[in-house]
Amino acid sequence: MKVYIKSGCNGCGRCASACPEVFALDKSGLGYVHGPLIEETEDAVQLAIQRCGAQVIGIEKAPGGVPDIVWPRSG
Ligand code: SF4
Repeated sequence: MKVYIKSGCNGCGRCASACPEVFALDKSGLGYVHGPLIEETEDAVQLAIQRCGAQVIGIEKAPGGVPDIVWPRSG
């Protein structure tokens, strides 16, 4: 699986705060992914997704597949 940030980031920085191993802010102040989603970072990535007020962080199920947000889980 791969984590991604779609358009609509507001630059709040919560993702980088929750999981600096995976998220950072670029020169424009917007969040981007710079680290891998692996077992060691999975919990922190989930926390970042929960804290992202813009709800623009998602998980791509399979490389090259259709991007699909699997967190936060619905239902
Ligand atoms: S938490 Fe969401 S809105 Fe805030 S910087 Fe990260 S991706 Fe952007």
